[in-house]
Amino acid sequence: MWNGAGIIRDMTTGYSGYLADKQIPDPNALRCRALPRIGTHASLSRDSSRYAYRESPEQCISCGHCVIACRDGGYHAISVIERHVTIDKDTCDGCGLCSLVCSGGVIVMRPRMQTKE
Ligand code: SF4
Ligand code: SF4
Repeated sequence: MWNGAGIIRDMTTGYSGYLADKQIPDPNALRCRALPRIGTHASLSRDSSRYAYRESPEQCISCGHCVIACRDGGYHAISVIERHVTIDKDTCDGCGLCSLVCSGGVIVMRPRMQTKE
């Protein structure tokens, strides 16, 4: 999301390099290898070392970019209603997308152990 569609080219180049490094001639040899590790969203670990924090909520312009980024990441941890930003710390995965897309610097990432709201 941050790098745009051009990242697909980097991924295919990286994938080709990985196959060459591992001397895997046929990409199909890796097909379905990850399936046993797929779980549900609810089973994802919440032990991230960071979480999103409202550093300067007065700067919020209600653009909604953070809400979209969080939702597209599958978390639904942020809501913004009339410039009031609410972040559910327990639902936040610490991915940092919201802080990347917030041009106003409203949201920053903080270590979980350090913060108390
Ligand atoms: S860090 Fe990720 S999961 Fe947490 S609120 Fe931001 S976008 Fe949502
Ligand atoms: S991205 Fe930043 S400015 Fe936009 S709604 Fe979210 S907190 Fe507010």
